[in-house]
Amino acid sequence: MNILRIVTLADKKPILHQPTQEVKNIGDQKIQRLIDEMIPTMYYKDGIGLAATQVNVGLRIATLVPNPEKFEDYKKKAQEAIIIINPKIIQHSLRTVSEEEGCLSVPGIFGPVKRWKSVTVEFYDREGKKNKMKASGLLARVFQHEIDHLDGTLYVQKALRLYKIELAH
Ligand code: ZN
Repeated sequence: MNILRIVTLADKKPILHQPTQEVKNIGDQKIQRLIDEMIPTMYYKDGIGLAATQVNVGLRIATLVPNPEKFEDYKKKAQEAIIIINPKIIQHSLRTVSEEEGCLSVPGIFGPVKRWKSVTVEFYDREGKKNKMKASGLLARVFQHEIDHLDGTLYVQKALRLYKIELAH
C-alpha cells in the first residue's frame, strides 16, 4: 500500500491554489492507480475527504468517506470511498450552516465555514459512468470542501474565523 505525501500550505506550492484540469481518460491506468493510492492515503491521514491537488496532482478528482460520521468503521477497511471525477454542484439548498472544518493541507488550524446545507453533485465514477448524488449534513460539507480544492480554493479563505490547536506528536 502506497501512502502518498500530503501537500500542505507550508510547502508553498501553487498547486493548492490553482484550478484543476478535467479528467478525459478515466480508464487510464495512471488515473486508476492514483485513485487506488488516494483512498488509503485519505484513511491513513485521518481525512474524511481528499482532493488530488493535496497529493500534488492537478486533476479534477477527489475521494470522500461514504459516511463521514462513521469514519472509524470505514477506516478499519480503508477501501471504500466515493470517487468523484469532474464533479459539479448542480443544485443546492438555500439554507446554509456554519460548522467547524479542518484540512489535511492546513494542519493544526480549524474554523467555522458557512456551507450549503445540502447539495446535489454530478460527477463521473471511476468506471467512467455519470452519477448524481444528493448529500446533506457532514457529507454535503465534505463535497463542498473537496470541490473547492479542485477549484483551487482552501477553506481558510472562506472561514469566518480561524484558530490554532497544538498538534500532539
Ligand atoms: Zn481540505
